[in-house]
Amino acid sequence: MREPRELLARLGLDPGLLAAAQAATRAFPLRVPLPYLARIRHGDPNDPLLRQVLPLGEELRPVPGYTADPLHESTAHSAPGLLRKYQGRALLVTTGACAVHCRYCFRRHYPYAGDATARPWDAALERLRADPSLREVILSGGDPLSLRDESLARLAAALDAVPHLTRLRIHTRLPVMIPQRVTDELCDWLTGGRLHPVVVIHANHARELDGAVCGALLRLGARGITLLNQSVLLRGVNDRVADLVDLSEALFEAGVLPYYLHALDPVQGAAHFAVPDDTARRLHETLSARLPGYLVPRLVREVPGASAKQPLA
Ligand SMILES: *Cc1c(COP(=O)(O)O)cnc(C)c1O
Ligand code: SF4
Repeated sequence: MREPRELLARLGLDPGLLAAAQAATRAFPLRVPLPYLARIRHGDPNDPLLRQVLPLGEELRPVPGYTADPLHESTAHSAPGLLRKYQGRALLVTTGACAVHCRYCFRRHYPYAGDATARPWDAALERLRADPSLREVILSGGDPLSLRDESLARLAAALDAVPHLTRLRIHTRLPVMIPQRVTDELCDWLTGGRLHPVVVIHANHARELDGAVCGALLRLGARGITLLNQSVLLRGVNDRVADLVDLSEALFEAGVLPYYLHALDPVQGAAHFAVPDDTARRLHETLSARLPGYLVPRLVREVPGASAKQPLA
């Protein structure tokens, strides 16, 4: 779904939202996959799933401290598309394409022309081969699973041949957005090599995990793939304890452990999603009291220049 007018009509929402949605769409297009759209509650402008994808006029309001490149990524590349910020790990920006446009996305202004896919992956692979301290490669994006399995299988084979690597990690929202993307071919190239596969999905609310999504996740788990989840703490989406408890419980049922709960990156156009740090800490404390430790995600923030994600609590 790419048309604000159609989105509002389909969900039975107030046409009064249209002008602002269209204006916000010019800065960052609307994109909602139909399997996700089907999970959004009809007629509820505050639905937590809708809020993540509905363009609002608030996005156009400049807010001090909220910038186009909050993580200074555009200057952090060590080869085209290769981000090497943390020890032992390198992140490969494989594509700018995503199945969905999350309105809070920290890469919503990212200059994807510098992607690895804009050119072949050769330069990035060369860098990975030359750095024996690396243990893990993270395929990120955009969403790496928006690429075809043939390309990804070729990339995975090339990484498999780098002797110092031991893990292949995929950061993807596709299993949640379009569970049909979890094909046998995908499982085959992910598990076909020497590298231990880790898939980090991105779900923010328990209602994102319907039967089809859980089925896809259980298929990945059955193939021996380590499954983790990262969420972003978002005002009006998952900023109540019950939301976070339900999410952790639902993830576990699907064989996924909560990994990170990220504080919002201060990206221009997303300030209306911000949850104050104090509130975030209080939520996390309550969550820790309510759940076993392994179902409590780490509350973190990404700080440009730091050697790891910084704990808030
Ligand atoms: C978040 C991130 C990683 C991975 O960090 P983990 O703490 O291992 O999940 C690696 N590289 C970059 C550039 C990142 O932003
Ligand atoms: S799936 Fe991830 S990269 Fe894609 S728009 Fe959403 S937050 Fe951004």
